[in-house]
Amino acid sequence: MSVLNIARLGHPILREKAKPVDLKALTASEDNELQQLIDDMVDTMREEGGVGIAAPQVARSLQIVIVEYQQNERYPSQDDIPLTVYVNPVITRSAKETASFWEGCLSLKDLRGLVTRPREVTVEAYSREGKKMVVEAKGFLAVVLQHEIDHLQGKVFLDRMTDLTQLAWAEEWETYWTEKESAQSPGAI
Ligand code: ZN
Repeated sequence: MSVLNIARLGHPILREKAKPVDLKALTASEDNELQQLIDDMVDTMREEGGVGIAAPQVARSLQIVIVEYQQNERYPSQDDIPLTVYVNPVITRSAKETASFWEGCLSLKDLRGLVTRPREVTVEAYSREGKKMVVEAKGFLAVVLQHEIDHLQGKVFLDRMTDLTQLAWAEEWETYWTEKESAQSPGAI
């Protein structure tokens, strides 16, 4: 197990477009650095308490995204997301309808911002075994996937905000915002 350092906002890699993963290298059977990186990204995401992580967040310019969420008492309204690795993910369809959600980010730890995004998306990607996947995502999973795929384009959730009065430190957010009906956040995506 290796927990990697998180690249925080200001690290140039968070503003770069990540490079596609070579699928042959991904599925090579020996000395596979990509599989090791994926394992380390899972460890890092879990250690940091994230719901998702993108390779640029561990300072690697590669199109790899990992998501996982298990329901807990604090945010009981979100559906579970099983551990899933998305290699070279692309959003191929976005719904016109939007939804707003309080997002956080391991690279902007302790900030929360209200972000409006398409309510449903279709994502095409490859599994860590190199198998093609097509995922129809809605609700919380749609939010997390869009947030993480943004990282592969050099974007963070702040870039998606349209009203910066809806930005808060997590502690103040919990004090002043959580009683509002719309305030549900899993924390750091
Ligand atoms: Zn993030």
